Amino acid sequence: MTSKQRYEPVIGLEVHAQLLTDSKIFCGCRSAYGGVANAQTCPVCLGLPGALPVLNRRAVEYATRTILAVGGRVNPLSIFARKNYFYPDLPKGYQISQYDRPLGAGGTIAITEDGNGISIGLIRIHVEEDAGKSFHPENAGDEDTTLVDMNRCGVPLIEIVSRPDIRSPRQAGLYLTRLRQILEYLEVCSGNMEEGALRCDANVSVRPVGESAFGTRTEVKNMNSIRGVERALAFEIERQTRLLQSGGTVVQETLLWDEKAQTAHPMRSKEESSDYRYFPEPDLLPLRIAPEWIESVRASLPEMPEARARRLVQQYGITTYDASVLTDTRALAEYYEATVRHFADGKKAANWIMTEVLRVIKERGIGIGDFPVKPEALAELLGMVEAGTISGKMAKDIFERMVASGQRASEIVKSEGLEQLSDDGVLIAVIDAVIADNPGQLAKYKAGRAQLLGFFVGETMKRTQGRANPQRVNELLRERLGAPGG
Ligand SMILES: [Zn+2]
Repeated sequence: MTSKQRYEPVIGLEVHAQLLTDSKIFCGCRSAYGGVANAQTCPVCLGLPGALPVLNRRAVEYATRTILAVGGRVNPLSIFARKNYFYPDLPKGYQISQYDRPLGAGGTIAITEDGNGISIGLIRIHVEEDAGKSFHPENAGDEDTTLVDMNRCGVPLIEIVSRPDIRSPRQAGLYLTRLRQILEYLEVCSGNMEEGALRCDANVSVRPVGESAFGTRTEVKNMNSIRGVERALAFEIERQTRLLQSGGTVVQETLLWDEKAQTAHPMRSKEESSDYRYFPEPDLLPLRIAPEWIESVRASLPEMPEARARRLVQQYGITTYDASVLTDTRALAEYYEATVRHFADGKKAANWIMTEVLRVIKERGIGIGDFPVKPEALAELLGMVEAGTISGKMAKDIFERMVASGQRASEIVKSEGLEQLSDDGVLIAVIDAVIADNPGQLAKYKAGRAQLLGFFVGETMKRTQGRANPQRVNELLRERLGAPGG
């Protein structure tokens, strides 16, 4: 008996990203998500006879931004091609895409796994139009009903094709997370997988460890979250490995992931088409891009996440971990830096945002852009703690009210009289009353029970509804009570 052969997975990802242009790629229809079905359509995107496509310059610019941001090459000449297939949501019977002359080639996505840097190579990034969407209404009363919404026809896409450099479901998840982050920084794609703005297909095969040739691969589709991609890959790797270990062979096919059942099943064969009969799109000229234009796009690229994280560490003295959390999205990094512009302690600001702000955002399921407390308002609150106007504990209560009401900290403090009591005259009056009301405790303290100081501090804090400055209360009590046992 020999031990079972060990296998390693080989994974390549094809990601479709919807570009955030206002209009579609070949016509002037709105490209926004949602809306009344089939309302955002015209003869061009419906593929009516005689309608001619006109290329959206902004879509090419967004694609170019992405190619440059991942270190890819923008081809000065690229060609649009017709990819022919029949499907109900594709009224033209073909999709305008790019084939052997794509807009972008090469580039890499850098990921970090357990502290190790891994570089995933890219084969190409090309531009294409999206197809429509068919769906099966649950309440139609008839299981066989299929409706088609053409609003998505002609929404601009880029397809980002990785090399088969990925070796585990986890690496695939890290790759998608980083890619989504890059697209968000570039402001070219919302990255929303639930809405289909970012979609991933995976090519996966397994091979004996030590082997360099690839095994037969399958394609897995229909995952709509990064976790879903990881689960689908784990399932498929397991299935292929077991198959090979038991002496079987992997059949090249396309599988659909079923998130509910946590299983993948083969697509019905009629849904598959192996021969797209690509040919150059006769209604669009070859796309020629001037080097100066490419350079102007390059010059307009924002600071990318890794560079920004490094700068935040240097500029504000925060940890590498904090910087990686705060640069997770460009919007969060902007929020942090806007806060620090009004409140100079970068570490304290980082702590507050990473605990209080991110907690509320997670609870409410909103983005930082919709967070009701603006950076200036948060900075004001932190400044009041720093100045001793309010205690740190009280600041958390006031923060909750700011979130709920949208009021500023200074307004809440003023209207409710929440300023920290630091006036000695007021504090001494309260302290003396506490001492006078507790002669028994005073006697014990005088007899040597030093820990009773805490009792007097607590009483004083209670009588001031927590507004007394605890440090000052301590000092004043020691003065008034004298030494224990004295
Ligand atoms: Zn249209």
